[in-house]
Amino acid sequence: MATEANPKIGAVMVVGGGIAGMQAALDTANAGYKVYLVEQDISLGGVMAQLDKTFPTNDCSTCMLSPRLIEVAMHPDIEIITLAQIEALEGEPGNFTVTLRQTPRYIDIDKCSACGACADVCPVELPSIFDEWRPVRPS
Ligand code: SF4
Repeated sequence: MATEANPKIGAVMVVGGGIAGMQAALDTANAGYKVYLVEQDISLGGVMAQLDKTFPTNDCSTCMLSPRLIEVAMHPDIEIITLAQIEALEGEPGNFTVTLRQTPRYIDIDKCSACGACADVCPVELPSIFDEWRPVRPS
């Protein structure tokens, strides 16, 4: 609990960058909090990013996901941390300290334009979550 001696920090961590996590991050950031959105995978989107339609409404997954992806990415109070998992959690409600372990990407993400040229020449085959975990070679 937040007390005078132990004040509320005012930052929130949302763990999981699927559509629910993204919406939670947006709602929290729009309420005036700094948000750290932590995702263990390489990108946000979760399972919904792999779907064409949703059941039972048959809604277009991308149509629901894309606006939130853009809004989260552009929000000045949301910091996205991908390839990361919680290693330690200390403190109490209102004042936690979280230690994350982040897997390196081996690229400078601020300079990467997502052109895909490195994937075209990469000699390693890896399973793709977007292809039912089958090994995929870049075309
Ligand atoms: S080759 Fe393209 S996708 Fe790969 S790291 Fe460089 S800018 Fe990013």
